[in-house]
Formats: sequence, C-alpha cells, structure tokens
Amino acid sequence: MNFSDSEIVASIMVEDGFTTTTDFKEADLIFVNTCAIRDNAEQRVRNRLNEFKSVKKKNPDLVVGVLGCMAERLKSKLLEEEQLVDIVVGPDAYRDLPNLVKIVETGQKAVNVLLSKEETYADITPVRLGNNGITAFISITRGCDNMCAFCVVPFTRGRERSRDPETIVKEAQDLFNLGYREVTLLGQNVDSYLWTGGGLKKYNPTAEELEGSTSFAQLMERVALVDPKLRVRFSTSHPKDMQDDVLEVMAKYPNICNYIHLPVQSGNTRLLDIMNRGYTREWYMDRINAIRRIIPDCAISTDVIAGFCSETEEEHADTLSLMEWVQYDFAYMFMYSERPKTLAERKFKDDVPEDVKGRRLTEIVDLQQKMSLASNQRDVGKTFEVLVEGLSKRSKEHLSGRNSQNKVIIFPKKDYKPGDYVMVKVHSCTAATLLGDSVE
Ligand code: SAH
Ligand code: SF4
Repeated sequence: MNFSDSEIVASIMVEDGFTTTTDFKEADLIFVNTCAIRDNAEQRVRNRLNEFKSVKKKNPDLVVGVLGCMAERLKSKLLEEEQLVDIVVGPDAYRDLPNLVKIVETGQKAVNVLLSKEETYADITPVRLGNNGITAFISITRGCDNMCAFCVVPFTRGRERSRDPETIVKEAQDLFNLGYREVTLLGQNVDSYLWTGGGLKKYNPTAEELEGSTSFAQLMERVALVDPKLRVRFSTSHPKDMQDDVLEVMAKYPNICNYIHLPVQSGNTRLLDIMNRGYTREWYMDRINAIRRIIPDCAISTDVIAGFCSETEEEHADTLSLMEWVQYDFAYMFMYSERPKTLAERKFKDDVPEDVKGRRLTEIVDLQQKMSLASNQRDVGKTFEVLVEGLSKRSKEHLSGRNSQNKVIIFPKKDYKPGDYVMVKVHSCTAATLLGDSVE
C-alpha cells in the first residue's frame, strides 16, 4: 500500500514540475514513506533518516519529508525528534505537498496530518516507480474501520473510504493499454469495498442507495472483464467479511488469480475475541472450506501474530494446529509489538515475555517453512501458466514469473520476454521457488 501511495506522491510532484531519481544523493527533495505497524518498522525509518545526514551536510538546501503512517502517528513531534526533517505529511494530505515544499523554501518547517473522510486520490494517475512494466497496484479503498485491538492502522490511515469504480476500471484499462498484464487491487479489507456514491462507508445503506452500488465481487468482475489477458489479484481479504460471492467470481474468470491472502492472526477463539477480529476459529475454518469447495486449486496465505497479550501455551498451540489444518502455502509471521493508542495498549498488558514471544514465533516460522516446502513439492511435475515479469535475479539466462497461485517460477529464457504467458512444467523446487522448463 505504501508502494502504491509513493506512486501517487510521485504523480503529484511530477505535476508540479519535479522529476524522480533513483539516486538519493542527487536529490533536492527526499520523501520517506513510512510504516507504523510495528515498532521495528519505525526504527528502520529512523536509521534511514540517518543515512541522509551526510547528503544534507553537502547540500544544505536539501528538503527531507516524512510521509505516511509514522508521520500521522507522531505529527510535529517528529520534527523535534529528527532535526533533519523539514516536512511531516499524513496519508490523506499528499495533494498539499507542493504547497508545503514552498513553505519550507521560505525557511520554515511544514506539517499537514489532517485525515479526510473523502480523499481516495481517485483522479490521480500514479507515476509507476521502479517497476517491471508488467504488474501494478491499484488502490480501491483507503483507511480502515475495523479496530483490531493490536492495530494502529485505523489511527494512522483514518476512516474507510471506497474509491469510485469507474476510476478503478479506467486505471486498469490504461495499464493494460500500456502493456501491463497484472493488477493487484489493494485495500486493508477489500471485502468491505462498497461504492454507494462516495464519502464514508454506509453500514446500513437504504435499498435506494444499494440500487446503483458496487460490491467488491462486482468490482472485481468489472476489472476481470477489461481483458482476458489482464490478470487480477487483490489483497487483503478479511475472514469476517469474505463471502462466497467473491469466491464465485474468482472461479468464473480464469484471469482472476487463484490466490487468497486471509490473515488469521491466531488460531484460538478467545484470542481472536480479545483481538476484536470478529470471527472464531470455527468461522475461519468454514471460510477455508468454502475456498477449497469453490476454488479447488486456490493457494492460501496468512498473517500470524505470536505472543499477543495474555496468550497461553495452549492458545499458541491452537495457532500451530490451525496452521497445520489449513496447510498454508505461505505466511507472514510477527511477534506482537504494542502500538500506542490501540485498544490493546489501553486495555491489556503486553505480558508475554520477549523470549517466550520469540520462541513461539520460531515454532510458527519452522512449521510454515515445512509447509511451504511441502506445498512446493506437491507442484513438482505439474504444468502452470506463468506470466513473465523479468529476468531471474540470479541468472540472465533465466526468466522469473508467477503462476496463478502467486508462486515464483524460474525457467530458461529461450525467446520469451516480460509480459508473455508461458506454460512451464515444474521439475524441482526450494521452499521459496519453483524451477521448471517451458513446454509447448
Ligand atoms: N488489513 C490487514 C492487515 C494489515 S497489517 C488485515 O486485516 O489483515 C499487516 C499485518 O501486520 C497484520 O495482519 C498483522 O498480522 C500484523 N500486525 C498488525 N499490527 C501488529 C502489531 N501491533 N504487532 C505485530 N504484528 C502486527
Ligand atoms: Fe488493522 Fe484490522 Fe484494519 Fe487490518 S482490518 S488494517 S489488522 S484494524
């Protein structure tokens, strides 16, 4: 999502006469787009800012801005804490950037951290940054209304808003015309996408409002219809909101990829309840069963948090057993990190000792490593349609692409090029990658 936001920021600055560079040492203006989801994400931003000190010494006119969630969270405090920083801008105020740069040029510091109930940057055509020309992100919602107890996102990104479907379909069409072959629709909870004419989401729309509305399933169908050669992906699905209509649309269109990222966070119902996730272990299992029933060859990945407040050994074991039951193809796994202002910070004690959190995380990671390898081994001997994204990082003689299930496949280049769809038969694998040969 930050990657996508940076492209919106680049577009706004290019409109104002700036150009982009890939070497920060030659920049007059550096924006650091930031994440606040875990404490270590913020520490990384602070380290990154240190790298810019030497550049500023050489070029005192250099302007440094901090954008995004960490900017929103710390506001003007960030100016006190990081002397180097001139501009602090939250995720809904990017249109103000050219203005703020002009203020800084008069020798002042500038802050805009206003959150909006309408801003979706719907009319802005993102400048695609450092990409492969084949795959691109399209934001479909901003903000989040879910209030999971551990999560800082609702505080840093504000209320949930859906973007006008016409502008989404147009962006997908424009990308296809430029040669792109895959779009990923982005939202904190794509299943809650609902366009009823703009502004904040209405949770109880009237029959009249629903009449001309667009749901996520309907939106995805419209994007899939842009062209059969345009692959469609999306992230993130929320287990409490993912309905069968979305799965049915996925099954109907071969160009909607068979891959769902369905973050579980914990396999224990008491933990899910205090996390305020809105589902139980059984409900989550029912959603997995629905995926298996409607899209039999769908890959599934997840997010897991180890050591959330008051988690016992038995409850942690429930997470391991659920992971095993699902047999995830892939997972992002984290130690719980307490975030200021969140429900958990206000209501619960961060009482699982760091070493216990670390050990639980290791058990989760080890299990997933085994399951990822097993998942890849099951694919050896199978043939997949691969969308080529570029050269393999390790060899100029090999291409890299992904199959519908989002697995990376490496194979000999021959005469194929990025953007081609190639049938590849898998002959071997590691836990992270499939290796194969193109077949007629
Ligand atoms: N909107 C997505 C998640 C966005 S954050 C969803 O609801 O699934 C990405 C992941 O970061 C979360 O799924 C969660 O696993 C993790 N995460 C969020 N806050 C965290 C915290 N305070 N500590 C550790 N991990 C956290
Ligand atoms: Fe955070 Fe929950 Fe919203 Fe995801 S759904 S962004 S975890 S509050």
